[in-house]
Amino acid sequence: MTKVVAANWKMHHGPKAARQFFQRFRPEVDSRAVRILFFPPDLSLAASIGAVEGSAGSGAPVEFGVQNLHWEASGAFTGETSAEIARDAGATLALVGHSERRHVFGETDEETGRKVAAAVRAGLVPVVCVGERLEERRAGRLREVLARQLGAVAEALPAASGADAAGFIVAYEPVWAIGTGETATPGDAADAHAIVRDVLRDAVGDGAETVPVLYGGSVGPRNAAALMSAPGVDGVLVGGASLDPASFAEIVEAACQAAAH
Ligand code: PEP
Repeated sequence: MTKVVAANWKMHHGPKAARQFFQRFRPEVDSRAVRILFFPPDLSLAASIGAVEGSAGSGAPVEFGVQNLHWEASGAFTGETSAEIARDAGATLALVGHSERRHVFGETDEETGRKVAAAVRAGLVPVVCVGERLEERRAGRLREVLARQLGAVAEALPAASGADAAGFIVAYEPVWAIGTGETATPGDAADAHAIVRDVLRDAVGDGAETVPVLYGGSVGPRNAAALMSAPGVDGVLVGGASLDPASFAEIVEAACQAAAH
């Protein structure tokens, strides 16, 4: 499967910093081997797309998405962005259910499901984030947590017209590894990805085989190659290390090498 390398900028890089990033980010990679996705803050989306379109040279093609969305198409929801508006602004993907949305903003599984359905309805590819907290892992509840989170997504999908399993991406991100410097070992990641794939089979049937499953949680240039060589790891979702063009380019190069093996 083509490796996927995704950058979640969270609440970093305004339009000016985004333009500067893309002036420096020019990895020369085999674009058939790697998909590169960026999730800038909403207000930096246009500047990011413009910077890539306007730049000279033969850098790898990139895709853009939003970090969050509201499930309604439009309406009196001050401060929110719908999937339709995101699409109109040039996004082709949407992160849904990131652990910061779930645990800082209190987003529920049901709301995550509604957002996935809204993304699919608008023609965006949802990148659905799932993962357990440390206490859940220690209590042996990894499979149960993943089944609950992915089950809510599967339940929401039939409600969205045109939904099929090939149209989404899953990011397995153990909560204890996000922004902490703690990383799952390649073995831990392989074990968790096998569970995700298994749960996906139960949730969406045969289509599960074609869903890319990414690993996220303190991925950086030093551990990216080993993580992406682990069985079942189809790519990475990167927060902190995606803010620097040189370090993110190294991660992209690691993906290219992992894809070649
Ligand atoms: C993330 O934001 O999804 C993430 C994995 O962050 P970090 O790489 O900083 O842990």
